[in-house]
Amino acid sequence: MYEYEEKRKRLAERLKYELNLSERVFKAILKVPRHIFVPPQYKIEAYIDTPLPIGHGQTISAPHMVAIMCDLLDLKEGEKVLEIGTGCGYHAAVVAEIVGKKGKVVTIERIPELAKTAIDNLRALGYSNVLVVIGDGSKGYEPESPYDKIYVTAAAPEIPKPLVNQLKLGGKMVIPIGNSIQWLYIVEKDEKGKISKWNWGSVRFVPLIGEYGFR
Ligand code: SAM
Repeated sequence: MYEYEEKRKRLAERLKYELNLSERVFKAILKVPRHIFVPPQYKIEAYIDTPLPIGHGQTISAPHMVAIMCDLLDLKEGEKVLEIGTGCGYHAAVVAEIVGKKGKVVTIERIPELAKTAIDNLRALGYSNVLVVIGDGSKGYEPESPYDKIYVTAAAPEIPKPLVNQLKLGGKMVIPIGNSIQWLYIVEKDEKGKISKWNWGSVRFVPLIGEYGFR
């Protein structure tokens, strides 16, 4: 246990230094036990900065990608955030730490077995501010909308319209777009509803499968 804590501290400090992380993202990476979210055979690698298999052909994102996306979203305490692609629940836990008990994370996963594992992981760690939904997240999740922030952890062919619609005025979304070559986009909706977007750079994600994703 102590060994995991030491490794996590070293990883968080290295990411803070290399990425110039905000203090709140640094604290969340430092706090969330990534080894709880990975399958038993990968626990030893949980604090290496790399994606790892979680079953069903899917992965837990690399810690640097989780940290970068959190900082690009400029997450704040009390915000309501939508995640598309729960996987094992790690990224949702990091965001839940940042938005705190007054905030909420709604996260959607299309593979029911992964969603169930995520629910177990998040429950075991006491994250009561995360709602895990099973379904096609390319359509967003209307019942809890609008959201202050939205992020997608799988690459889409284009920005799904329902996600833009479910973003609050003044809200922000981070989403990887592309197929063999992918780019991470930051999409902003201003107070009048005008959309602007900019390209952060090249990334590598699994595909978003769904009505507004790849078919
Ligand atoms: N958020 C995860 C973490 O904590 O590291 C990483 C998730 S993994 C890179 C991407 C996930 O998106 C996979 O679990 C995949 O099943 C899911 N996914 C793909 N298309 C989806 C869709 N339309 N709706 C919901 N989940 C989807």
